This record gives sequence, C-alpha cells and structure tokens, in this order.
Amino acid sequence: MKCRRCGAELPGGRGAYRWRCEVVALGDDALSPAGDFNELEERQQRIFEELASVSPEQIEADVYQLWEGLFCRRCRFELGRVLEQFLGREDGI
Ligand SMILES: [Zn+2]
Repeated sequence: MKCRRCGAELPGGRGAYRWRCEVVALGDDALSPAGDFNELEERQQRIFEELASVSPEQIEADVYQLWEGLFCRRCRFELGRVLEQFLGREDGI
C-alpha cells in the first residue's frame, strides 16, 4: 500500500487516509433547455455541434468525475491546505 501522491509506503494501511472527491453536475436541462420550439431546436443543434468536437471522456468528466485513493499523513494535510486555499479560507484544517 502506497500514498497515491508521493508514493510513501503505508504498511497495512497504517498512517493512511482514504481520499475521495466526487464532482456531479446538478440539473439535467442542458440538452433540453426551456424556450419555444424553434429556439429549442437551435440550441440543441449548437449543443450537438459543440459535443461533436469533444471527446467522450471530456463529456463524461463534465457531468461526473471521481478522484480517490490513499494518502499518507503529510499529503493529507497538504491536500487540506490546497482545498482551504481553493475554498478561499485562511484558517486551515
Ligand atoms: Zn504522501
């Protein structure tokens, strides 16, 4: 067992932290926006044209993405520090 970030050994899971980050799009109206029928068809056509130039992996990641693994204690606190910065908080974990 190793830390996903730095590769430190985590024998038997000792000193390991499980990490899981899931991002899920809310709402399902992207492909069926509100509006009159002509406007709806135009908007759907634009969406389909945009989707044609994007890989299936990018489309999936736009709707759902999961990161997970094990961290050592040092990387766990580094992740906390980065998340606090991302969230705009200064107090830390
Ligand atoms: Zn680590």
